[in-house]
Amino acid sequence: MAEECVFCKIINKELPAAIVYEDDDILAFKDIKPIAPVHILIIPKKHIPDMTAVTENDVDLIGKIHLAAIKIAEELGISEKGFRLVNNCKQHGGQVVYHLHYHLLGGEALSIFA
Ligand code: AMP
Ligand code: ZN
Repeated sequence: MAEECVFCKIINKELPAAIVYEDDDILAFKDIKPIAPVHILIIPKKHIPDMTAVTENDVDLIGKIHLAAIKIAEELGISEKGFRLVNNCKQHGGQVVYHLHYHLLGGEALSIFA
């Protein structure tokens, strides 16, 4: 838990969110400013600031996030046609919230990014 972290506050239910998946290690909720028909954020409950802070100890956790993404995609009906799972890392990656998160995007053909 990081005091001023907005995603830690969502995990602790201090801030509302439209939660679509939760287990002991992971939370997933709708992005507040969706850029696709389906736009879900998948986060570890452990506060990891960004992707470069992931360590050997987090290997299982990252695997679980991947499995959760598959499950959520199936539940939201975007598995068959496909989807995108994105991590924005730090300034040049366009990261705004410094709690590790993965964008699950789908529901339409997504444009190819540069
Ligand atoms: P990033 O640029 O990868 O750090 O993305 C941060 C994402 O978090 C953006 O897509 C925001 O719309 C989303 N976001 C920020 N605050 C909230 C919130 N309280 N609930 C849901 N999504 C949020
Ligand atoms: Zn946090």
